[in-house]
Amino acid sequence: MRKSCRCGSRESFSDCCKPLLDGRRSSVTPEQLVRSRYTAYALGGYGDYLLQTWFPATAKGLIAADLSVVTRNWTALKIFASGVDGNTGWVDFRATDQSASGPSILHEKSVFTCATGIWLYIGGEVLSS
Ligand SMILES: [Zn+2]
Repeated sequence: MRKSCRCGSRESFSDCCKPLLDGRRSSVTPEQLVRSRYTAYALGGYGDYLLQTWFPATAKGLIAADLSVVTRNWTALKIFASGVDGNTGWVDFRATDQSASGPSILHEKSVFTCATGIWLYIGGEVLSS
């Protein structure tokens, strides 16, 4: 039995986000990058990947070891909309964090740039859910 990927794609982890997290493949769309970065946060231990897929100018001061630590119990990712305009992309998503006191939802519109064929995370605007 194959375990489905944490990003909610219904594919197996080994066919979905794992090749990206292992650096064997790059994201071809901003949505794919959101999915793989969400999985990296949910699983922990992928701080290097999170840093590598972060636009250097907005990742200043971030440390891979810190990003590898699981700080929230992410249980679900839902992507509402995404778009690409030239070298810029955006994704509107909601990530659910299940803590002892109940679920909370992070609703974010993330912005990405495509540099030399590779999508990088620039930053996000938190929206009210
Ligand atoms: Zn996945």
